[in-house]
Amino acid sequence: MLPDFEMGMRDVSAAERAWYFVFRGNDLLCAADRSLPEPMTREVWQESPFGNLPAFYFGSYRGLPCYAVQHEADAAVPAGMEWTGLRRLLVDESATLYSLAGRGRQILEFNLTHRYCGKCGQPTVAHARDLARECQGCGHVVYPRVSPCMIVLVTRGEELLLARSARFPNAMYSTLAGFVEPGETIEQAVHREVLEEVGVRIAPPVYFGSQPWPFPHQLMIGFHAEYAGGEIRIGEEEIVDARWWHYRELPLTPPGSAMSGMLIQDYVRRCGEGGGQENPE
Ligand SMILES: [Zn+2]
Repeated sequence: MLPDFEMGMRDVSAAERAWYFVFRGNDLLCAADRSLPEPMTREVWQESPFGNLPAFYFGSYRGLPCYAVQHEADAAVPAGMEWTGLRRLLVDESATLYSLAGRGRQILEFNLTHRYCGKCGQPTVAHARDLARECQGCGHVVYPRVSPCMIVLVTRGEELLLARSARFPNAMYSTLAGFVEPGETIEQAVHREVLEEVGVRIAPPVYFGSQPWPFPHQLMIGFHAEYAGGEIRIGEEEIVDARWWHYRELPLTPPGSAMSGMLIQDYVRRCGEGGGQENPE
């Protein structure tokens, strides 16, 4: 998270101004130049086309509270503003805006999908101290969900194992990924997913880094892993092709702003030469 960002709850009642982030699904309302929105007073906010919508607190940035708001279909877009996909912000490396908006989007999703208690069905309200929701009927407390998702680049010397998903809109090939299941370590998930998806065995995976991925609430945990045996055998319907690619002859791959792209570029760099072809999306 950003250095000036504070995660927890704090007394924001005295703040004169606040940052408001308005969403429509995974789109953020922002200026055409993708700068941070100007913080505004509550009065100015309430006069805006979105001022009557529920605003969910998700932390403070530079000492001012941050709120996330879900757009209603009939609200007009203010002059000079436009809807921009969160993924686009990531690709553009608008780090501050992406980081804040990503957290806001996740907290918004959490609030909108936990309005009722899963235990007794009564309405929930914002928790007094924690970033959580509490049931008014039975006191059950729920916290925002973060789903750990492993992502791994399997390599064999100068070759990278990349797969094409049926979900990709173009000819892009990427690393393998999957959710960690209950009761499983992340390393076990890496071994299992690689075996399930492409039928090969790997050496113990080596941790590379992690990245919040607010679509809607994953934490991507990246690994490198060396091939240890087996032939490629596609085992899941979601994957339409998987093969070994020499690092000098890579297909279209994800941008370096996403964990998959970082893993690929890191390996290519280590193989002694710069990049494959990047997917602009
Ligand atoms: Zn309850």
